[in-house]
Parts: sequence; C-alpha cells; structure tokens
Amino acid sequence: MTKRIVLVGGGHTHLQLVEAFGKRPLAGWTIVLVSPERIVAYSGMAPGVVAGHYRPDDLEIDLERLCAAHDTEFRRARVVGIDRNARRAGLEDGSSIRYDLLSLDVGSVPATAGVAGAAENALPLKPIGHFLGGLDAILGTPKPRIVVVGGGPAGVEVALALRHRLRHAGHGAALSLVAAGPILEDLPAGVRRYFRSLLAQRHVQLIENAPVSAIAADAVHLEDGREIASDLTLLATGAAPPAWLARTGLQLSNGFVAVHPTLQTLTDPDIFAAGDCAEIVGIPRPKAGVFAVRAGPPLAANLRARAERRPLQPWSPQKKYLAVLATGPKHAVAVRGRFFVTGRWVWFWKDRIDRNWVRRFRP
Ligand SMILES: Cc1cc2nc3c(=O)[nH]c(=O)nc-3n(C[C@H](O)[C@H](O)[C@H](O)COP(=O)(O)OP(=O)(O)OC[C@H]3O[C@@H](n4cnc5c(N)ncnc54)[C@H](O)[C@@H]3O)c2cc1C
Repeated sequence: MTKRIVLVGGGHTHLQLVEAFGKRPLAGWTIVLVSPERIVAYSGMAPGVVAGHYRPDDLEIDLERLCAAHDTEFRRARVVGIDRNARRAGLEDGSSIRYDLLSLDVGSVPATAGVAGAAENALPLKPIGHFLGGLDAILGTPKPRIVVVGGGPAGVEVALALRHRLRHAGHGAALSLVAAGPILEDLPAGVRRYFRSLLAQRHVQLIENAPVSAIAADAVHLEDGREIASDLTLLATGAAPPAWLARTGLQLSNGFVAVHPTLQTLTDPDIFAAGDCAEIVGIPRPKAGVFAVRAGPPLAANLRARAERRPLQPWSPQKKYLAVLATGPKHAVAVRGRFFVTGRWVWFWKDRIDRNWVRRFRP
C-alpha cells in the first residue's frame, strides 16, 4: 500500500505543496488535498473586488484542476477531527481518511468571542468566497449605513474600498469603522496617522478603542454604551482559531496548533501545521498571508524529509515583512519595518505580485 500525505485545507501554504510534490514527486507516496471548497479565492485581492478593480473570478483558484495538474488526489470534504491512534482524519459526513503524514493549513476565522449576535447579524470577511458572494446585496442597497468592525489591515482596506465603490456608484452611504484598540496596531505610528487622515478625508467615521459588545440587525453596540446604527455590519475582526482544533487533542497555543520551528506539532511528529492555524512556539508572528506563503518551502522540505526519514530543518519566519495596503482607488501603501511609501505605482506593483500568485496556481 502506498503511503499517504494528507494536506488539510487549500490555503496559501498548501497550494505550494501541491505544486512542489507535483514537480518533484515523492516515490511511494500519494498526496491528497482535502478542502470543503473546490474554488478558493485569494484574500489579498479581495479589497480590489470590493473597490471594483477586479471581477470575483480574477481571484479564484480551482483546487481540483490544480491537483489534477500535479498528480494529487483532491477530496472535497471538511475535516472535523483527528484520530491519532488510527491515523485517520475524520470528515464531516462521518467517514474518515487514512494518513501517514498529516498537514493542517486551515486558516483562521474572525474573532467574535463575547460579541452577542455577531454570527446572526454580521457578514464576516472570511471565507472570502462567501463574503464576495454577499457583495451584490451590499452594493444594491441604496444609501445604506454600513459599519465595518475590525481595525486591522483587512478592515481598513475593505472600508476604503467600499467607500471608493459606493462613491462611484453614486451612493452616499454612511460608513463607519470600529476598532477595539487603535487601528493597524501592528504597523508603525506614521502609517496609523496616514490612514486616520485618509479615512477622515473619505468621510469614513473612525471609532477607535471601542470594543463591540453586541451586533443587532440594525445597530452595533459598543462596550461603553454607544450604539451605531447599521443596515449592514461587516466583520473584519482579528484571527481566531477554528473551533474544531480544540477537539483534535493536539496541544494548542492561544487556541492555535502549537508547532516546533520544523512545523511539526508539539504533540505528534507526523502531524504538521502552518499558516494562520498554527503558532510556532516562541516565535509569535501576526496572522498574515505573507507568513502562510513563506511557510510553503520549509513545510514541503520537512514533510519530504520526514517521509524519507531524514533530519528536519527548523524555520524561523522573519520579523520584518512587507505589508501592502490598498487605499480604495488604484493607490496603495507599502510598509516594511518603520518605513512606508505610498503611490499609484505601489498599487500596480501589488497588482502584479497578486496576479502572478493566482496565475501560478491556475494550470
Ligand atoms: C479581506 C482580507 C484581505 C487580506 N489581505 C491580506 C494581505 O494583503 N496580505 C496578507 O499578508 N494577509 C492578508 N489577509 C490575511 C490572510 O488572508 C490570511 O492571513 C491568510 O489567508 C492565511 O492563509 P492560510 O493559508 O493560513 O489560510 P487560508 O488562506 O484562510 O486557507 C485556509 C483554507 O482551509 C480550508 N479549510 C478551513 N477549514 C477546513 C477544514 N476543517 N477542513 C478542510 N479545509 C478547511 C478553507 O476552506 C480555506 O480554503 C487578508 C485577509 C482578509 C480577510
């Protein structure tokens, strides 16, 4: 019987693994990718769809086609548990899939702990495909009051993109951005100042240091008692771990799967994890696609090494990283460390990088 590497989730990291094992097959091993969606959308370009610069299908990667091109089995299913003794991943339909090596790249979900009504009354930005599917309804409602909850890069980008799109469509929507702390907390103060002034210029009401306590169908309630009327609430809150990870028996760190720098879980050397769903113990990094992308080559190398019984190499994601935030029109801000630059050229540069990324996985 051939041995089997099961890749759970078609996130940024696993896309690269499908490609890597397709280009350099692992003798005696079958690769299986398990994903609840056949089509995944690249999040980095999602604000561009909101702004009207891209069509939703510009972002799409067809996992089944990618797998077929790289001699990988595609299984459309959602993993809901792991039986480590039997070495099987349990699926939502009650069946299970056998693995010899297992890798998790299942992303994160918007944090809503303690926010009553969030699940019922807000549209989360993730899964991206679901969010973009709801866009027509947003843009079709005349003069809505829209509240974006979450002051990280995704929330800020989406608020500015919405303003751009609605203005072009002639909608004078009242748009608010609510952040539990300061906006763009992980970025330098100069970038925060830049975006505060941009949001003010674009008439996006910014409410900082205001944790949300509840989301109703027609309002967002803040912990300090304030209430913001809302016809539509978008949820761009920070990354939280998918709930089912807590039932896997794997050791967690802040709710995410705790891994060594080799990307092996602390609990089981044959189970790996990367991207948003993982946390390398002692090397905390923000939950950003850039780290999920960077994890691709070391994860591929270490899965291969484990399969071939060779020593694994530790990986330390770099501290400084490039963040590029679009500002609504075809204009963006690139940030690295304490430095940032702005301009239309930054948007076109990001556009090229993003399009190349999607094209790479469209065989
Ligand atoms: C609007 C928006 C814009 C963003 N822009 C940027 C940006 O410009 N730069 C940046 O660095 N970061 C950005 N981010 C953050 C970025 O999206 C995440 O950090 C990144 O997607 C994490 O990648 P990942 O590989 O961990 O998981 P994901 O890309 O989220 O992929 C996880 C996959 O796993 C699948 N999955 C989930 N659960 C299961 C399960 N139980 N079984 C099987 N499969 C499962 C999902 O269907 C999904 O396809 C943005 C986020 C949003 C919401």
